[in-house]
Amino acid sequence: MSKIIAINAGSSSLKFKLFEMNTEQVLAQGLFDRIGLAQGAIKIKYGADEEFKTNEEIKDHSYAVKRLLGLMLNLEIIHEFSEIKGVGHRVVAGGEYFKRSVAINSKVIRKINSLAEYAPIHNPANLMGIKAFKNILPTATAVAVFDTSFHQTMPKENYIFSVPYEWYQKYGVRRYGAHGTSHRYVADVAASMLKRPLKELKLISCHLGAGASICAIKNGKSFDTSMGFTPLTGITMATRSGDTDVAMIAFMMQKLDMHSMPEAIYDLNKKSGLLGISGVSSDMRDVMEESTTNFRAQLAVDIFVKDIVKYIGSYTAEMGGVDGIIFTAGIGENSAEIRSAVLKRLSYMGIEVDEEKNLLRGENIVISTSSSKVKAFVIPTDEELMIARDVDKIMKKKNVKSAKLV
Ligand code: AMP
Repeated sequence: MSKIIAINAGSSSLKFKLFEMNTEQVLAQGLFDRIGLAQGAIKIKYGADEEFKTNEEIKDHSYAVKRLLGLMLNLEIIHEFSEIKGVGHRVVAGGEYFKRSVAINSKVIRKINSLAEYAPIHNPANLMGIKAFKNILPTATAVAVFDTSFHQTMPKENYIFSVPYEWYQKYGVRRYGAHGTSHRYVADVAASMLKRPLKELKLISCHLGAGASICAIKNGKSFDTSMGFTPLTGITMATRSGDTDVAMIAFMMQKLDMHSMPEAIYDLNKKSGLLGISGVSSDMRDVMEESTTNFRAQLAVDIFVKDIVKYIGSYTAEMGGVDGIIFTAGIGENSAEIRSAVLKRLSYMGIEVDEEKNLLRGENIVISTSSSKVKAFVIPTDEELMIARDVDKIMKKKNVKSAKLV
């Protein structure tokens, strides 16, 4: 029996999923929220259908990890800490250095720290999680899984921006992308559903959540993706603008009497997207509900759909075709209406939606007709399972021993 825990540590939260790796069964999952703030919240689901919930102060990540492992013993999810053989940590920015998941040692820690300028909020939080687990589970193998590493296979023409080349050479400015673990996971599942080797396929994965990105996956490798140097670019999102004209920012800074660039970028990150266009909400459900009576809400939905259609069209052209289109994450998994609106506009590619199947709920469904030239899928993403699989693979492949951190 080998238990592996997948960790996603944010600046004030820590999400986890504990797997029994032989069967990939989820033994427990949960969230420690509002770490370092008044009124922290803990929620753990475990067993057949049990739930533990409490509100209490969670002073820092180290305390959260101690409390989590203590609760796992109390709730009899585990009987001793040593049952957890591996810990997989999501790390947001891996730069060009981390091209795949790696066993964590002191050098890896230093490198993640040095890449913090690319993800100033996330990488330090990820490191807090790594260190907290290392203190309590010193013998478990710790592995870092990067959001960016899947996209390291993109050809240069797809990651170099059309700006002075020295910006890339001196400062590492390029397209890094995001949601790599999710795109990688759903592509694997789509290939097995198609019963064809991933290496032979051209897929387009649409991760449509509050953050949203589209990824062209050619022969199993990320070929192009819509997020850029930061997660601000690409399609319109819950509160992020997606692609826009940077010269407009200088104009608006003058108009709004803004004195710093971060102030303007804040508006593009937090006040734009569905929220900015509709003025209603950043939540697609609210926006869709208002759309029949509010033209701005309808416009937000229309722009969201158009952006997806535009990226799918351009990625199909870039790859020279497409075998499958995958929908995943909150909107992609739950909104039959958005999926249908996107796919209908792609009928020129020979895509036919099976509207009955599109309404089905559940795991891994093909929603195109049998005669459709391109298959369309709904595949619930599972980044945590992908993280746990990477830990398992690294533990088996190299017989990696847990490294001491200095
Ligand atoms: P995520 O970031 O993956 O959790 O996705 C969050 C987004 O999914 C929010 O915008 C939700 O409104 C959206 N969402 C969840 N369920 C639905 C649904 N049934 N219809 C439309 N959007 C949904």
